[in-house]
Order: sequence, then C-alpha cells, then structure tokens
Amino acid sequence: MLILDFDGTLTDAEEEGKPFTAGFLDDLATLTGRPLAEIVQMHAEFEARILAEPHKYAWMMDGLPVAPASVDPYLRIKPIATMILEETGCRMDPRTQQNLLTGLLYKNNYRLSGTCFRPGAMELLHALFLAADDAFIITNSHTDAVISKLRKLAMDLADDCGPETGGAFLNWWIPRVLGNAKKYVALDHLDDPSKSRLELIGLVPDRMVYCLRPHYERALLELMGPLGCKWPDLTVVGDIFELDGACPMARGAQFGLLRNPATPDYEIKYLDGHPQARVLIEVSQILPFYREGRSAT
Ligand SMILES: [Mg+2]
Repeated sequence: MLILDFDGTLTDAEEEGKPFTAGFLDDLATLTGRPLAEIVQMHAEFEARILAEPHKYAWMMDGLPVAPASVDPYLRIKPIATMILEETGCRMDPRTQQNLLTGLLYKNNYRLSGTCFRPGAMELLHALFLAADDAFIITNSHTDAVISKLRKLAMDLADDCGPETGGAFLNWWIPRVLGNAKKYVALDHLDDPSKSRLELIGLVPDRMVYCLRPHYERALLELMGPLGCKWPDLTVVGDIFELDGACPMARGAQFGLLRNPATPDYEIKYLDGHPQARVLIEVSQILPFYREGRSAT
C-alpha cells in the first residue's frame, strides 16, 4: 500500500507559495510603516539565516517542535515575520502577534497561493490509477483544496488522453484523498521518552523528532485496516520527514523522502543510512521505490 503526502510532494510548494509570501510581506510593510523594498530585503536575510541553521528553527505546536520551520514558505514565514517585527521595533503583546501571524495575515494570504505540480506528478497519479494500486493521499490540507488541484490535473489529462480518461481518473482519486490529517499534532511519552522521541545523535545537537502522532496514525490505520495492510507492507512518501515519515517509520513502514533544496542536511544523512528509508530527488522515483518495497514483502 502506498500513501502519498500532497503539498510539497506532488506540488512545488516553493512556487505555489510565492504569491503567499509576496502578499504577507506587503501586509508587513503596511503594519510596520516601512517601505516594501526594505521588508523584502529583511525577508531575504532572515530566510538565509533559517536555511543555514534549520535545526534551530522549529514549527512549535503545543510546546513541542513538530517540524523544521525551514522546509517551505508557509512554515518559514512565521519566524521570519517575527524577526521582521523585532527588527522594525513593532511591538505588540505576544497573543496579538501570534493571532496576527498565524491567523489573519496567514489566512488572507494563503488564498493567494498558486497551483503548480512537480514534474512527473501527473504521470505518477495516472500510472497508479491505471494499475488500480492501493494508493491514497493523506494531507494536512483540506480535502476540497486537494481535490480542486486534482481537478486541474484531470483536465490536463483529458487534453492528452480524452475526457473519459480525465473523468475516470478524477473519480478514482477523489475517494482516495484524506485531508485534515493533523500530522503536526505530536505527543511526548513522558514515562518512557524513547517511545516517542528520536534523537538524531551525532547529526544535530538537541534536535528531537517526535514519532507519536496520534491523528496521523489513526488516519493511516483507517486506510490500512480494510485492506489488511500491516506496517511493514506500507510505503509512505512525503517531503517533510518529521511530519510525513517519523510516525509510520517508527511503526515499521518504508519511507521515501522527496527532498527539495530546503530539506535539512541532517535529515538526508539520517535517512540515507536507514534500512527503511530512501532519499528521492524526483517524483519519477516514487513508483520504482514503492514497487521495490512491495516485491520485498
Ligand atoms: Mg508536504
């Protein structure tokens, strides 16, 4: 069985996020009263700082680091905006700032995001449809947002292969999309931390990866159960190790990390040497990786 992440795995999150980032910076210029060019310059500087030391900047959720904040423009914007507000002396109480950055500004600009699939995404989804594979998409995004993007892909497929194929493709994929998976909700096993924490010893200081992700695990089991799929028979592919891979790998699944230029080096080093993992650079490598895992079990 194959589980695919969607955003950043089948889509190019950097490209899709450009209008989001531009809109966010525009709002920050208004908020701080500084010229847009100055805010854009600060963004570039702070972004370079985060990308140079990704282990120091985490996406925090309920007090736990749940993913690197460096890996896509949607995660990077919060620490960068915080630095910009500090640099410009724009002070507000922490709760107002939190609500502003993760609420109003985030949501208003998120809707500006584009749609851009990674090369090979249509070919992969088409091949899985043709082979009627046990393949599904599990994503943090809302199911409707993913289906609307798949609809665009189906229209492209209809141009190439005819409207019946495009329609059948979409109808096959729609029930295979599971959204709102909350992969960012992690739990710490306080009695025995080794059950929930993975220490990347020797790769990066003080970086814990939390493997206990109750919502995500439930979503995976919901799809695996009816098919009688056990953890070692499962292959998961995603672009963020902590969100997509840590939980299923801890249970015994195979994980393919589809890396991008913002993937932290320590993740690549860790997964490169792991018997359950593979670091992939192109979408075209997903199907061979999945078929290889399937023939081995
Ligand atoms: Mg992703």
